Amino acid sequence: MEKIKNLIVGSGLSGAVLARKIAEEKKEKVLIIDRRNHIGGNVYDYKDQETNITIHKYGPHVFHTSIKEVWDFLSRFTKWHYFFYKVRAYIDGKEVNIPFNLDSLYKVFPKKIAFNLEEKLLKCYEFDTKTTILELRNSKDEDLKFLAEYIYKKVFLGYTSKQWGVDPEHIDASVSARVPIYISKDDRYFQDTYQAIPKEGYTKMVENILNHPLIELRLNVDFKEAKKELDYENLFYTGAIDEFFDYKFGKLPYRSLDIKFEKYDKEYMQSCAQMNYPNNFDFTRSVEYKYYLDEKSEKTILSYEYPCEFEEGKNERYYPIPNEENQKLYERYLQEVNEFKNIYFLGRLGDYKYYDMDKTVDRILKFAKTKEIK
Ligand code: UDP
Repeated sequence: MEKIKNLIVGSGLSGAVLARKIAEEKKEKVLIIDRRNHIGGNVYDYKDQETNITIHKYGPHVFHTSIKEVWDFLSRFTKWHYFFYKVRAYIDGKEVNIPFNLDSLYKVFPKKIAFNLEEKLLKCYEFDTKTTILELRNSKDEDLKFLAEYIYKKVFLGYTSKQWGVDPEHIDASVSARVPIYISKDDRYFQDTYQAIPKEGYTKMVENILNHPLIELRLNVDFKEAKKELDYENLFYTGAIDEFFDYKFGKLPYRSLDIKFEKYDKEYMQSCAQMNYPNNFDFTRSVEYKYYLDEKSEKTILSYEYPCEFEEGKNERYYPIPNEENQKLYERYLQEVNEFKNIYFLGRLGDYKYYDMDKTVDRILKFAKTKEIK
């Protein structure tokens, strides 16, 4: 048996940041394993050889945070390409800003109606605030009710049905609240203080995080196999908690994506980086990657995301599905963990939480501050 002080399973953002914290602050050795043939988990990106365009293999990742500590930590490992994300959705043949904002009203309605709705919104809400679609639907004003139904139907219903396989009412309110309605003219997808993409890509950033003499990385290593030969003192597991326990209480459901990439003999295909298609096609959105780092090529590459159920061995886990039932099942698994004093579950899969990248890093930075790690 090989003796290991700290074993981390998964070299995604969680695993990598934790490895660095243990190596730097506790000055202890860390072995990090991943069953994939690359680091970075789902933030992995690579350059298309022909065009040099940076592609996000597991779908679009745009970094945004208002947590200065997270920004400062990651900034040690990457230079940034500052980037305000602009997203539009095709609604009734028009390209409309998402999040829906005051300008969007004028894109989809005749001027008179748009003006009236704008006035009503500004009477009910303060300028430069935001609301959610589920909140707006509870509006008492008839005109705002009409607007809420319009946005619900044209922006959320079709997209969410494709993405999650259910109507917005049947998924946790926090999910559709990720995309609010702006009572302002802000046309950025995020409003965070820091918004950027790693200049040399996410993979390079993760590589830099892992580049420390006390960190050893082994790829193509599955935990279930490896554990037969590893005697670890502490285990930090960023994989799926139900799989760890051989699904003894049942499977935690996930949504997955079938992402199709297309290369075009054209400089640009879209007017912005991301186009959403709530009401057309079977894919939810298309992303034109050259916008992210402002990369130049005579060709362009787009991805199209077809959501589907996660099936083991067939596709990858992308999104935990937040609802009460799944949370209960997760907590049942978590109770099992309490039996062990040296095993910790972390990350989107280990915590079964729909984390953004910054919340993933924040969770690890906070975890590393606790005295829990022996
Ligand atoms: N959403 C929607 N219409 C849109 C964009 C988002 O209905 O045009 C809903 C949908 O349910 C989606 C959720 O808002 O899953 C969160 O969107 P976000 O862009 O944060 O998803 P991610 O980038 O994490 O896939």
